[in-house]
Amino acid sequence: MPVNGTVPAVGVDQVETVLARFGAVPAVKVKVAERGQTVAEDLARVAEVRRLLPGAGIRVDANGGWDVPTAVAALEALAGAGLEYAEQPVPDIAGLRAVREELARRGIPVLIAADESVRKETDPLRVAREDAADLIVVKVAPLGGVRRALSIVAAAGLPAVVSSALDTSVGIRAGVALAASLPELPYACGLGTLSLMDGDVTDEPLLPDGGALAVRGVPVSEELLERYAADPDVARWWLDRLARVYAQLPVPDTGH
Ligand SMILES: [Mg+2]
Repeated sequence: MPVNGTVPAVGVDQVETVLARFGAVPAVKVKVAERGQTVAEDLARVAEVRRLLPGAGIRVDANGGWDVPTAVAALEALAGAGLEYAEQPVPDIAGLRAVREELARRGIPVLIAADESVRKETDPLRVAREDAADLIVVKVAPLGGVRRALSIVAAAGLPAVVSSALDTSVGIRAGVALAASLPELPYACGLGTLSLMDGDVTDEPLLPDGGALAVRGVPVSEELLERYAADPDVARWWLDRLARVYAQLPVPDTGH
């Protein structure tokens, strides 16, 4: 499964070093709209990625950091670099829709992807129903598993980009399974994130090779599981919290 590289909100002089870490990738995600930075800095960062990788797909991720007028102006300026899409330019669904409509009105060819508006909404399909995005970003763990993510993509009727939620190889493997199960995969997956982790729970990490991840199993190491296990008190706190939350869930109607 093809994966993208990621360029965080670094200065132009650091872009080449960051990209070198990822090797040959078909696409690069560039962070924009970082708090305390300007659109000019975003433009310079994206232009540098385009200069270094003339043939790569470039997508930007604002993590909801712009308001509607800023997003429209920024994407109008960024469109010249040739973007695959812009991820979550503004925080809310109504805003995504407004940005999308204004870009269309001005004839600016930038597609809008929803990430937080799928993952953090009670209803992950609202963004599709309200015509607020051209594609959706899907992450296995936050959406409740591979099967549920597949059904959400099918119900949304939009192209999907499979990304990680900063998982170990076990979670990445689930993302690869989702990507491999989709009927179409028009965009490289955001699953090349293992290099951001300090450790893993397998001796055979699911790292990209030549810009792609293998579709394979991940043998879990008992020794590594033990090494990275949460402190028992911390683990108990989380398990208690889960139990309390679970108790609040409505009892599912099983028809009996
Ligand atoms: Mg995102």
